[in-house]
Amino acid sequence: MIVLSGVNKWFGELHVLRDINLSIGRGEVVVVIGPSGSGKSTLCRAINRLEPISQGEIVFDGVRLPEEGRPLARLRSEVGMVFQSFNLFAHKTVLENVMLGPVKVRKEKPAVVRERAMGLLERVGIAKQADKYPAQMSGGQQQRAAIARALAMQPKAMLFDEPTSALDPEMVGEVLDVMTTLAGEGMTMVVVTHEMGFARHAANRVVFMADGQLVEEASPAEFFANPRSDRAKDFLSKIL
Ligand code: ADP
Ligand code: MG
Repeated sequence: MIVLSGVNKWFGELHVLRDINLSIGRGEVVVVIGPSGSGKSTLCRAINRLEPISQGEIVFDGVRLPEEGRPLARLRSEVGMVFQSFNLFAHKTVLENVMLGPVKVRKEKPAVVRERAMGLLERVGIAKQADKYPAQMSGGQQQRAAIARALAMQPKAMLFDEPTSALDPEMVGEVLDVMTTLAGEGMTMVVVTHEMGFARHAANRVVFMADGQLVEEASPAEFFANPRSDRAKDFLSKIL
């Protein structure tokens, strides 16, 4: 579904992605962990082309992008992204936020989109909040709205970049529950998170990054029981 080959990225002199090779199968849930500054966000941004790469290639669903005649907007609508900050439009209701992409970008019929959007709000457990503005909701509700908004574009894969890091602790669970359900339904997911419980239970694979390199990849059971590299051992000793 997503194949990165020999991906390198420099910000000026700074080598932030070092020869990354990673293949993510359809329906697979890959959790990316690693110290701050190791390149996790840049990796996510590279996958949906918010950030151009310096070298290598990324193939998404069999297509190398960007490719002539296949605009970036198309790829971006195929890859949903959820960030640490919820990034909802403050002056629009939750329902309007969820409907915006399909109606404005995809030119779908509002009536059709509304029905889908309400279904998604139901799925993430905030249908009752549909007409509220983001500021009237809790952080956990806002992040669930952001997930619904990404899903409204009917993406083929979802990227989550520390989706629970900005939340109060009591709201982390409700967002992880939505993500766990999504994973169980077969969504292809790349999740950057420090929530090791989620990694253990929902991930098919854990990828450990440090200094722009993909240092280790293993099943969660294998990785947590038996991290091979000193970097991973050191990282785990600090967060577990
Ligand atoms: P992580 O998400 O693992 O914390 P990032 O991908 O955000 O790491 O950052 C990797 C490195 O790239 C860091 O050293 C960071 O300071 C640097 N970096 C990230 N974005 C930019 C940018 N737009 N310009 C210059 N350096 C950046
Ligand atoms: Mg980051």
